[in-house]
Parts: sequence; C-alpha cells; structure tokens
Amino acid sequence: MPIRAITLDLDDTLWPIWPTIVRAEQALHDWLMRHAPRTAKRYPVPAMRRLRDAIASEQPAIIHDFTAQRRLTLARALADSGDDEALVEPAFEVFIEHRNIVDLYPDAAAALARLSARFPVAALTNGNADLSRIGIGKHFVFQLGAREHGVAKPHSSIFHAACERLGLQPGDVLHVGDDPELDVIGAQRAGLRCAWLNRDAGTWQFADAVPDYVVRDLHELAEKLDEITFSP
Ligand SMILES: [Mg+2]
Repeated sequence: MPIRAITLDLDDTLWPIWPTIVRAEQALHDWLMRHAPRTAKRYPVPAMRRLRDAIASEQPAIIHDFTAQRRLTLARALADSGDDEALVEPAFEVFIEHRNIVDLYPDAAAALARLSARFPVAALTNGNADLSRIGIGKHFVFQLGAREHGVAKPHSSIFHAACERLGLQPGDVLHVGDDPELDVIGAQRAGLRCAWLNRDAGTWQFADAVPDYVVRDLHELAEKLDEITFSP
C-alpha cells in the first residue's frame, strides 16, 4: 500500500528539546528577577521545575497540556511569593517565545522541504511548539497537538484525528518520530505505519513491536521513501 501522507513528531525529531527548554526556563527566570523578584528568589529554575512536576501529578486533567501546567505553575509560584498573579500571562509569553527558538537538527530543514514536496506532512506533537513562530509552518498542512486534541500520544485517538483531517485511512499514513513508545508503538497500535527516527543509534527494546522503518535522520527517511513506488 502506498504511503499517502506523513504525520511528524516535532520535539527531538526536528530539534533537540532539552537545550530549548533549559534556555526558555532561564529566560523566564531572568524576567521574573526583574518583574517579580520575590518569586524568582523563592523559585529558582530547579524549584520551579519541582513545582511544575507537583502540579502535573496533582492535576491529571491537564496531564496532556504543558501550556496549562506552566500557566498554573506560574500562578502558584507568584501567589506563594506574594507577587501579582496578573504577571502569569506576560511571564508565560517570555517562556513560550524562547521555547520556540530552536536549533533545527542539520538535516531537518532540507529533509522537511523534500518530504513536504512529495507528501502532505502534518505535525503531531505532545508539546507546545508553534510552527509559525519557528518559521517552518509552510511545510505542514496542519499541526495537531495533545493540548487541542485533549489526549496525548501514544493514545490512538490523536493519530486517528490526524488521519481524519488528512482524509486518509490510518494504513495510508506514515508516522515519524523519535520516541519508541509515544511515536512508534502508539502509531502502530492506531494502524498507521511508522518510522523510528533513531538519531542516537539506540537499540530497539520492544520485542512485540517492530518499526516499519528505522532511520538515523530525515534524509535517510526521504531516501527510503523515494525507493518506494509512489502512487498519488
Ligand atoms: Mg519527540
């Protein structure tokens, strides 16, 4: 069966997420030092992370929504410190601005252009990246996030929602991502085909699931897809 579209993970697939988050948390801290110094002193970056973890575990209803978790964390930190809770929005804006300043992997931009010239590509993410802020939105037919959908990968329903928006059956769609459980196994359970983006040369750990493709970068994926007969 031909592949008719691609759903693509974002974080750790197109850019490394951890350095981005570290920079965004530091930018937020620097902003709080200027605008809410009591909060900044009471919640330096590691303490703010612990608070967010605590809020995430006490609020299962927003487990899939990192934006809501971060806003709630800021509200709690500001209130605990006696600062103005109206600062939540400008503080969150500082975080999200920096969260969308990413260092694309060297293969990402060219491979994405190549893939999107051949297939409709939809972004499918559990995170809160904003493709238009990042400047690569033109390569995507749409972006579907766990926040808007209401549940996160690996749940089948987010994969099915993406296929529906593409107007395709799951078996016509290839999902590509770095995470064996969230991306590969989740997509496979939902009936999509799947490519494991194995940038770190890891070993596949799951005996009961086998990715359809294993690639070390997105160029290799584009090469493999070029080898497959394509019927539009
Ligand atoms: Mg990922």
